[in-house]
Formats: sequence, structure tokens, C-alpha cells
Amino acid sequence: MAIANMTDMLIKARAGKYAVGAFNILDYNSFKAVVDAASELNAPVIVQISVKTVKLWGYDAIVSWYRQLSENVKVPVAMHLDHCKDIDVIENCIKAGWTSVMIDASSKPFEENMKLTRQVVEMATSANVSVEAELGEIGGVEDDIVVAEENAHLADPAKAELFCQEIDLQCFAPAIGTAHGVYKGEPKIDFDRLKTIAGRTPVPLALHGGTGLSSDVFRKCISLGCAKVNISTQLKHAFINEFVKYHQAHPNEYEPVKVLAAQYEQLKQEVKENIEFFGSSGKGE
Ligand SMILES: [Zn+2]
Repeated sequence: MAIANMTDMLIKARAGKYAVGAFNILDYNSFKAVVDAASELNAPVIVQISVKTVKLWGYDAIVSWYRQLSENVKVPVAMHLDHCKDIDVIENCIKAGWTSVMIDASSKPFEENMKLTRQVVEMATSANVSVEAELGEIGGVEDDIVVAEENAHLADPAKAELFCQEIDLQCFAPAIGTAHGVYKGEPKIDFDRLKTIAGRTPVPLALHGGTGLSSDVFRKCISLGCAKVNISTQLKHAFINEFVKYHQAHPNEYEPVKVLAAQYEQLKQEVKENIEFFGSSGKGE
């Protein structure tokens, strides 16, 4: 039984200075690629679902994939709702069988963010569901949430400390300069801010906007306390590019099963590369 929430895997990751990969999936095939990659590398893993994907397939279908794919693997697999502003969707996910949720009230004033996050924690804790919250605003586009560069702002360390002290979070996402989507130019990561925040709270930190960061940036962020690294854009690109590539290489073949198999292999390989890189390979026990 490998249905798990994020709590233990992230505590161990932060203490061991590695990170658990959190990979956004789109369908059964990509879900299977992520779980199989983690299982083959004996790594804990987080499967992330965006609100858009929840709305496409429905709660019960996604939970049925989760149970079917994760129940019989040895490694812990958490299923996490990515960036969600809607309390009703969060509540439905908790009831349906998600083991982890993210409340993203980062666009609200600080007090309001705390209030909404606290409300979600109360709802989640009784169901043994872990919670991630965000402070500051991470730039770029994630799902239907668009944060223009001029509106993105970094997390204030004093507020971060208070936020984590007041609310019992399993994961905290402070905005430190990373962005969702594809980076235009060199990302400006505020490592000092990350270091200060990590020094003020033991809560495992999440690094959003992982796609396109250099290996040095990853290494540094993980060594400074990032225990969860989100990878979404990279897998979206692999998902579509592999389809196109297969069809271009075999223009007269119309066997969808072969295309899906190629897509699965590509996604699995990219997930594995990330897991190896984050240092969570072999940490599945
Ligand atoms: Zn994010």
C-alpha cells in the first residue's frame, strides 16, 4: 500500500537535503509514467493535478487511477492538488481521496491568506491530508492563474516565519524569484531570501517553476531547504512533442497504442532524470 500524503516524505527530504519530485500529470498514461519512474528508482514521489485537469476528468476518475497505480508499489506516492484558489474544489478533492492539497491564496492580503489557509488546514488535518500554502506571488502562468512579472513579489521572511508558526503546514512555498512556464532570460533567484526563510522555519519548502532551472540552481535551492520541486512545463512539452515526433517519424502509421507507448517512455525517462537529479532515488523506504 503506497498511498501516502506528503508529510513524512518531505520531513525526511528536508533533513536529508534532497528533494521529492512533484510532477504534473495530464491523464492515465502520464500518471503511470510518473509512478513507474519512481517505483523503478525506489523514490518517493508526488503526483500533482492541476484544477484544470480535475475539471477535465472529474474527481472519481483521477482517484481511481491513483488507487490502481499506487496501491501495489512499494514507494510512497502522494496525490497533490496543485495551486487551488477554490475552497470547494479543495473540499471535493479531500472527500474524493486526494492525500494532499495546495491552497493558493497568495494573491490575497496576508491576513486573508492566513485565514483561508487555516480553514483548509482544519479541513485537511482530520482527513490525514497534507497542505501546502504559498506566500508572495510566483510569476508566470500556472493553470488559469496568470501573474504578470510586475505583480510577482517575493515572500517577506518575517511574514513567512509568522505564517509557518501560526499554521501547521506540511509544505510552504515562498516566492523567491522562480516563475511558472518558460523562463525568458536568466531566472533571478533570491538565494539569500531562501536561506533566511529556511533559517526561520523547519517546514519543508517547495520550489515552484522548476522547468528550465540550471542544475546549480536546483542544487543550491535543495541544499537551502527546498524539499519539494515542482516540474510541470517540462512534462507538458514532452507530452506534446513526443506525439508530434512519433507521427513525423511514422507518417503513415495510425496505431494510437504505439504513440501512447512512445509518449509514456519519454515521460518516464524525463521523470527519472529529474528524480536522480533531486537526490531522491533510493529514498523510497
Ligand atoms: Zn507552482
